[in-house]
Amino acid sequence: MQILLYLCSMKLVFATNNAHKLDEVRHILPADIDVISLEELGYTDEIEETGATLDENSRIKAETISQWLSARGQWNTIDGVFADDTGLEIDALGGKPGVYTARWAGEAAANRQKALHELAGETNRKAQFRTVVTLITADGRTQQVSGVVGGWIADSEYGNGGFGYDPVFIPDDYDRTFAELPAELKNAISHRARAMSELKRILHVS
Ligand code: IMP
Repeated sequence: MQILLYLCSMKLVFATNNAHKLDEVRHILPADIDVISLEELGYTDEIEETGATLDENSRIKAETISQWLSARGQWNTIDGVFADDTGLEIDALGGKPGVYTARWAGEAAANRQKALHELAGETNRKAQFRTVVTLITADGRTQQVSGVVGGWIADSEYGNGGFGYDPVFIPDDYDRTFAELPAELKNAISHRARAMSELKRILHVS
């Protein structure tokens, strides 16, 4: 399997319907990895995130698609399935919203406002994004890796780039939010970039 992965370009299903995540991952991973979205695969259902942790939700997403491929006898055309579950962990809130990051207040704008509201008057604005990636390969093996980027929550929303909480998150060593920084920079230093580095490592690609 590993030798095969070295020699061939790879076909990986990314178990997401999030166009922003898909776009970032396609820019981060090497071009010879063919990243297939759920839409391209023809999978149209919502995957319920019923886990209590990012690890569990990441695994649920990857396993759902793996089982779906098995039921259709489609594993022979695919090298692997991977899923990304991401959480924003805010120190002053004891790591919240964490696993509830997507549904903290509702949609993205309300979530960002909730982060700002919950930290009103708070001096400790430290936070981190954490991405857990689950990879299931065609040999049936399941592996998990993660990526973290530390930073802090801004005092307001800044910038139009990125998605989700990006307008309120300033990564360590920078003074602008992910939504203000160039996409190439976010894709070089983000939680997702770090998780993708780990994914490449376990796939034995550079
Ligand atoms: P999930 O991983 O799809 O469950 O997403 C969790 C939540 O985190 C959603 O509200 C996303 O919008 C948000 N999110 C995921 N990745 C990022 C990111 O890179 N920047 C900002 N927000 C993100």
